[in-house]
Amino acid sequence: MYERIQVKQINDHIWLLDDNGDSTGYLVTGEKSGLIIDTMTGYENVRAVAEKITDLPLAVINTHGHPDHIYGNVYFEKVHIHPADIAVAERFYQDPVFVQAIKETGLHPAEFVPVTEGKVFDLGGIELEVYELPGHTPGGIALLDRKDRILFPGDSILEQTWMQLPECLPMEQFLESLKRIQILRSEFDYLLTGHGSELVDASFCEVHLKAVEEVCMGKKDNDVPYTWFGGTCMAHPYGKEPRRIVYK
Ligand SMILES: [Zn+2]
Repeated sequence: MYERIQVKQINDHIWLLDDNGDSTGYLVTGEKSGLIIDTMTGYENVRAVAEKITDLPLAVINTHGHPDHIYGNVYFEKVHIHPADIAVAERFYQDPVFVQAIKETGLHPAEFVPVTEGKVFDLGGIELEVYELPGHTPGGIALLDRKDRILFPGDSILEQTWMQLPECLPMEQFLESLKRIQILRSEFDYLLTGHGSELVDASFCEVHLKAVEEVCMGKKDNDVPYTWFGGTCMAHPYGKEPRRIVYK
């Protein structure tokens, strides 16, 4: 078994699970249960890692359907996801490398349980509420932990935001989603993102929103070509490296 997941304790009931720098998941516990937010690459058994931390019953949710956030779903029976991202996830389940891996291990991806805005995971003293945040993917969600004043936005509010993928929605729609999340801004002070190693000050939301707005308004004078594994697109830099909005 690979040992990739570095566990970092954020407070007495939140743990950051850094999957070898490839992506980040979280374990949040209350008095009666726990929630795993994203299962990451699946190379290491995230369930076993979480069960070393807590013996509470665990629910699982994917912030969105990208492979670096869902492949560890093979270690669970049921995983919550927004219905608009089930097709995205199932497409990545057909990747030949993943197909080969599940053939070799005999594991199978969890059954998806659709979850939409307003769903509250009541962990006992800690509640996490689902908010829809479409853009990076059609069914992206954020989770708000009001007690800790933390928002978990997945890949939607990241220093380097990828909006060039085939499943990404138009930038204007992403901008509308980000503006809608701003309504909650008085209820959180920190972000825990899908590719982070620490708490991020939530004032980053405004910086990030402004950058997305600039792309939508056509302020592209400083934009540069950006090469990724799917080809070359464009990137809108804002602030210091690696801050950029990558777009089609
Ligand atoms: Zn993603």
